[in-house]
Amino acid sequence: MLIDNNNWRKLRACDHSKYAQPILISHAFQKLIRDADEKDKNALRKQVEFSSSEKKVGNFETSDPLGEQKYCITPYLVHQYDNRVLLLSTGKCLAYCRYCFRRGFTARQESYINDIQLEKVCDYIANNPQVEEILVSGGDPMSGGFKNLKRVLTALRKASDKLIIRLCTRSPIFAPELFTNEVLELLEDCRPLWLIPHINHPAELGEAQRLAFSNCQRHCISIQSQTVLLKGVNDNPETLIRLFNELTVLGIKPGYLFQLDLAAGTSHFRMPLNRAMEIWKVLERKLSGLSRPQFAVDLPNGGGKFSLSALSLSDKILEKKDDGSFTAIGSDGNVYEYSSAF
Ligand code: SF4
Repeated sequence: MLIDNNNWRKLRACDHSKYAQPILISHAFQKLIRDADEKDKNALRKQVEFSSSEKKVGNFETSDPLGEQKYCITPYLVHQYDNRVLLLSTGKCLAYCRYCFRRGFTARQESYINDIQLEKVCDYIANNPQVEEILVSGGDPMSGGFKNLKRVLTALRKASDKLIIRLCTRSPIFAPELFTNEVLELLEDCRPLWLIPHINHPAELGEAQRLAFSNCQRHCISIQSQTVLLKGVNDNPETLIRLFNELTVLGIKPGYLFQLDLAAGTSHFRMPLNRAMEIWKVLERKLSGLSRPQFAVDLPNGGGKFSLSALSLSDKILEKKDDGSFTAIGSDGNVYEYSSAF
């Protein structure tokens, strides 16, 4: 059954299994699995290998877990936050993550955004100067080849020369060979542009992946990663500490650790929130500000990003006064008062 452009977010969660996400594991990721230590192989496999658990739809899971529908300007452009917009450039990916929160969209495998739709996006940016950033996502914006990537990035740059472009992609892990000289030069020419790679496990950082990142850095591309907390993949502090420290060593700022969104058919990957917060509290203690990402979740029904890091911190605040002074538990476990009276 075909899903048209506009209705994939409106599917009932129970219809989800009719639109199953494709199964595709890229050559580069297969190599990572082959080369991984025995203890890490399953963490890589689980992310990309089909499981019948995907057919089970849990309570509260939906086809539009972020509630983006109400912020759609066009089927491909979402404007939820004042200063930034999201572009869904394509429904295709280089491999398919079984926990994907946009699986309704990626299940369609729709090819790259066409010129007519792209023009609508660029007009919107040109006419809305409060938009300072665009997240170019999908699917994977690197899945459509050089010509499509160039078409989209140069059109966006033409629409606004100050627009900050965030290229949200899993390609450095799934297909590092895509970072050819011509792609690197394009990314450099389209700055200000940040590469936002999605990386979940230290075993994803193979030789080819590291080379892709260092080539981006040689071309002055800033990089901030995002990670999803996944049961059976990275659901322990040791793995995450290894990952975030390794990224920092590579000059990649760990940006976000996300609690898994409530996408239909993904409950076998979701950590209970209490356990997730316990893991986070260890990371808070053991990682420096440089290597520690923000821990966040997207609130359902369009509530936007919510900081779970802040939620964890709130346990440490014992008293807060109207003048801003507060009493809190310090890093040594003792109680301290900070006064705002000078
Ligand atoms: S690469 Fe991104 S969009 Fe594609 S399947 Fe993975 S999480 Fe979903």
